[in-house]
Amino acid sequence: MDPVTQLLEDVLADVRGEDAGAVADYIPELARADASRLALAVTGPAGGTIAVGDADAEFSIQSISKPFVFALVLDALGRDEVLRHVGVEPSGEPFNAISLEESTGRPANPLINAGAIAVTGLVPGTDLEERSARIVAGLSAFAGRSLTVDEDVYASESATGERNRALAHLLRSYDILHGDPHVSVEAYFRQCATLVTVTDVSVMAGTLAFGGRNPVTGEKVISARTARDVVSLMTSCGMYDGSGSWLLRVGLPAKSGVSGGILALAPSQFGVAVMSPRLDVHGNSTRGRLVLERLSDELGMHVFDQHTAIATPRVSVEHDSDGTMRVGLEGELSFSGAERVLAALRGIEVAADVPHLVVDVRGLSQLHPAALAVLRAQVGRLGGEVRVD
Ligand code: GLU
Repeated sequence: MDPVTQLLEDVLADVRGEDAGAVADYIPELARADASRLALAVTGPAGGTIAVGDADAEFSIQSISKPFVFALVLDALGRDEVLRHVGVEPSGEPFNAISLEESTGRPANPLINAGAIAVTGLVPGTDLEERSARIVAGLSAFAGRSLTVDEDVYASESATGERNRALAHLLRSYDILHGDPHVSVEAYFRQCATLVTVTDVSVMAGTLAFGGRNPVTGEKVISARTARDVVSLMTSCGMYDGSGSWLLRVGLPAKSGVSGGILALAPSQFGVAVMSPRLDVHGNSTRGRLVLERLSDELGMHVFDQHTAIATPRVSVEHDSDGTMRVGLEGELSFSGAERVLAALRGIEVAADVPHLVVDVRGLSQLHPAALAVLRAQVGRLGGEVRVD
């Protein structure tokens, strides 16, 4: 077994004995879930996915669908239009709270039910069938395979979801939802009943981690800006009223669902998904949280850990026969990376015997405009030039 698979297996083995929490039963069909299930998957930048545990077990995506439908709507309508209908502030309240802004009726954010229903209401489509088909197709693009709806879970939530139905009517009264609120809330129930595996969710997380490009299919599903917006939102609001302690302990933007799934990601590094049906008081998978805490602690995955390599480009120095000094840069040059390069160039300034300096940035995979501007200014001061093309 390769070392990463072994490591993931070990993490699962460590939490398997934990049996705190309870399977959600307010949607009757969810109560039938096998509570012993446990699965974990991680997806890297080239699309390689390692899945362990009950990796083939399908479960309904539930609230993990919310950031993705928000992403699709953001990409289609633009940030300003979407934010007229929903806020982006943590509610500090449970998932099904009536968190509506007093004057406008805007739900606090798209990751609680009220906000998610408002967002689903923005998906184009005249009837339920059309809107639902668009949502499932969108979720499928994130997962990289054709997903389907679990009709039993849908029927079960539709038969019992009076609170969500009430939220939809409330949103209609504020004109946040337009048209028939039933179409929006039923489309939302179908969206939540979409069937996925941990591998699907891990690839979906990867698509957000890698700027909106599905790392398996290569499809650009959403813009990099939208992916950044969604990841920002998950950081502050993804774990409901447990979002603050989650950020402190796990430090990965994440989204959980009542069927026991948790999606998390480290931007530009990996997507991860874990599933185990028993939930804590916040509605987050108990064993899922333990798994992600362990991965974060032991593998240094917390996003606010120090990551010097990300900010440091590779630097090579060559001298031509005419004395020209060529400084080549590779990797990513961020604002902080530019500062490190400048510190190196200051040493060159002291060694005044260099007749000409060329800083070649063509090998960089990513160059931030501010970094280029400071680099140009400093290299110009040394009488050198920056080669960009
Ligand atoms: N369909 C569920 C509901 O609206 C989703 C909740 C969740 O996963 O947190 O109640």
